[in-house]
Amino acid sequence: MAEVVVVGAGPAGLTAALYLGRYHRDVVVVHDGCSRALRIPTTHNAPGFPDGVDGPELIDRMTRHATCYGARIEEAEIARLETSGDGFRLTASDGRLWTARAVILATGIQLNHVDLDHDVHEQAIKDGVLRYCPICDGYEHTDARIGVIGCDSDGAAEALFLRQYSPHITLMPLSHPELTSEQAEEMRRAGITVVTGELEALEPHSDRMEVRLRGHKAPSSFDVIYPALGCRPRSELAAQLGIDLEEGGCVPDRALADSGMPGFFAAGDVVQGLDQISVAMGQGALAATRAHNWLREKDRHTLQAGGD
Ligand SMILES: Cc1cc2nc3c(=O)[nH]c(=O)nc-3n(C[C@H](O)[C@H](O)[C@H](O)COP(=O)(O)OP(=O)(O)OC[C@H]3O[C@@H](n4cnc5c(N)ncnc54)[C@H](O)[C@@H]3O)c2cc1C
Repeated sequence: MAEVVVVGAGPAGLTAALYLGRYHRDVVVVHDGCSRALRIPTTHNAPGFPDGVDGPELIDRMTRHATCYGARIEEAEIARLETSGDGFRLTASDGRLWTARAVILATGIQLNHVDLDHDVHEQAIKDGVLRYCPICDGYEHTDARIGVIGCDSDGAAEALFLRQYSPHITLMPLSHPELTSEQAEEMRRAGITVVTGELEALEPHSDRMEVRLRGHKAPSSFDVIYPALGCRPRSELAAQLGIDLEEGGCVPDRALADSGMPGFFAAGDVVQGLDQISVAMGQGALAATRAHNWLREKDRHTLQAGGD
């Protein structure tokens, strides 16, 4: 039995593991190799990296940092999480089992992608012509020709956010426009072009994305496309424990303070909030400290260190 099992080896899980290791806790990190951070070509808003850092390097550094302090990292997909006696039992899809006194869920989210072959999709991300996170890299597209896919309230909100960076914003539907007349008017006032016509094809090039829309003779060309198609939080394990999830499937942020399930903590993108590396790291530190203090309390050492 580990004292704490952390599910997830992204920025949230690895920060939690680092802190727990430095609290002298026996911590195991189990992950299935799918951290979103591994797909980042270069992030420019990770504090402490003024020249930017690529996702795989960040994760490699964070893994080494956590293992320096004793965290064990194991690769498996956890399929089942349940309470067991005084703690938790985690079962992997290959049948392996872990038990723990406390669990930190740091399983992230999966984005809904546009329809491109996997390799083509990932190359377009590397080339910077396909992006999913305006907060991450809107800055890099200052004054660029930006296309936003998803003509609903999410798409409209994303187009308005990007309008701060560039006057050349076009909002396109995936199938049909779903803007209310107020939203359409807001787009007009912001100088955002709204086009109609079902998305037929995306053609990525190394320096631009061409978009074919039904009813348009020629493709439209953009420096970058931002699909605003939502995401699927990887929160199934929290649901298995009976944690009430948000409508979109995230663990509610109030669970950061009290999940309602003693010994269960959550951090990072899987928690409702700003899906960013720095937030995931901060929540990882909080979850680790809460798990540590919860274990101390259970062990009747009630002095609360770290003010939390
Ligand atoms: C292309 C791209 C660019 C981005 N650019 C930036 C940027 O510039 N700045 C920024 O701040 N953010 C950026 N992000 C977002 C950033 O990657 C995430 O906010 C961050 O990775 C969240 O960390 P996390 O630890 O919560 O989740 P993740 O990093 O997604 O890690 C989740 C972990 O959980 C594991 N996992 C999930 N379910 C299971 C299971 N059932 N069993 C075992 N393991 C499981 C996964 O394997 C993974 O290790 C970008 C994302 C993408 C895709």
